[in-house]
Amino acid sequence: MEEKMGDKLIKVLLIEDNIGDAQLISETLVEVKDIPFEVVHADRLSTGLERLAETDFDVVLLDLTLPDAKGLEPFSRIHAQAPQVPIILLTGVVDDKTATQAVREGAQDYLVKWQVGGILLVRSIRYAIERQRAEEVLKKYAEQLEDANRLKDLFTDIMSHDLLNPAGTIANALELMEDWELDEEQEKLREILEESAKRIIEMIKNASTYEKLESAEKLEVERLDLNEVFGTVLESFMPRLEKKKMKLKYLPKGKSYVVVNPMIENVFSNLLSNAIKYSPEGKKIEVDIIDEDDHFKIYFKDWGSGISDEDKARLFTRFQRVDKKGVKGSGLGLAIVKRAVELHKGKVWIEDNSEGGSIFYIEIPKNLS
Ligand code: ADP
Repeated sequence: MEEKMGDKLIKVLLIEDNIGDAQLISETLVEVKDIPFEVVHADRLSTGLERLAETDFDVVLLDLTLPDAKGLEPFSRIHAQAPQVPIILLTGVVDDKTATQAVREGAQDYLVKWQVGGILLVRSIRYAIERQRAEEVLKKYAEQLEDANRLKDLFTDIMSHDLLNPAGTIANALELMEDWELDEEQEKLREILEESAKRIIEMIKNASTYEKLESAEKLEVERLDLNEVFGTVLESFMPRLEKKKMKLKYLPKGKSYVVVNPMIENVFSNLLSNAIKYSPEGKKIEVDIIDEDDHFKIYFKDWGSGISDEDKARLFTRFQRVDKKGVKGSGLGLAIVKRAVELHKGKVWIEDNSEGGSIFYIEIPKNLS
């Protein structure tokens, strides 16, 4: 015997109506030295099905022409009753169409009876058992993945629909309470709550944007002016800039038309959000959109905490965060930036601000073709 399979007894159900063939195969297996085989013989399908119901077999050797069933039927019935047991078909012809079809439908192998010798038979059984095991494991993984996927879809749905609305209501209500006559302590609490509600909203939006970007392959594009896109983003960030007493220096003058997907806005909002988040109070931020022939180069320069060389590359990976005291985030922002820019065939990178802080650069081609 060439290959070792261990001492474990291999239980074979042999369904074969030709007594001579059955005897030959049984003897061949029993004579194998290194592997103990136990062969149970059935001479028709009905008896085979009964034996299969009584015992856990490791493999079934199945003749395709039996007195009580022919064609694909013997295989289909055995496979339906015990889908986890590997089946090797025994046939009398070399190019057996039925056997080939059965292999397509889940049989592990087929052997031509008069060609079967000890080594070939044992090898076929051994591989059939191993392949079947591997297939079972893969099937289980696939089922687990499907379950996990269903769960993920459920959470994504809950997050982007069911959670976003109430979080929005809370944030709006807290914003309206700004006009109430609150004492200092109450106002402080109101501010903390408003900030937290807005953070929840930002995280939910980021998570659902990231999910969309991950599955996106082709982008729907339209002609947009990057100046206008940034203007809208800036407007929504004005309260945060004011609160941190920060000034934004915005350099571009003309229009900057590009053919992009509107989600490019997420790139701007994440980079601006970070520049504010990771800068101390009173610092400035500088943004420019530079026309460079076939693309625009845009940068966000801050005078904040800066980023080490080691962190520069890894920060674009999902969930990567450098421990920044007191600054909360999901670690999704830069992953969104990277993916969105890449979908536009652009580039993103970080450089140091020589005066302390960081500069985030992106390049967006004018035409996505
Ligand atoms: P989040 O801000 O939610 O943590 P991001 O993906 O936007 O997630 O950022 C990842 C990390 O990169 C942040 O946790 C922070 O450590 C670092 N970072 C991002 N932008 C800046 C910046 N402008 N200055 C300093 N550090 C930054």
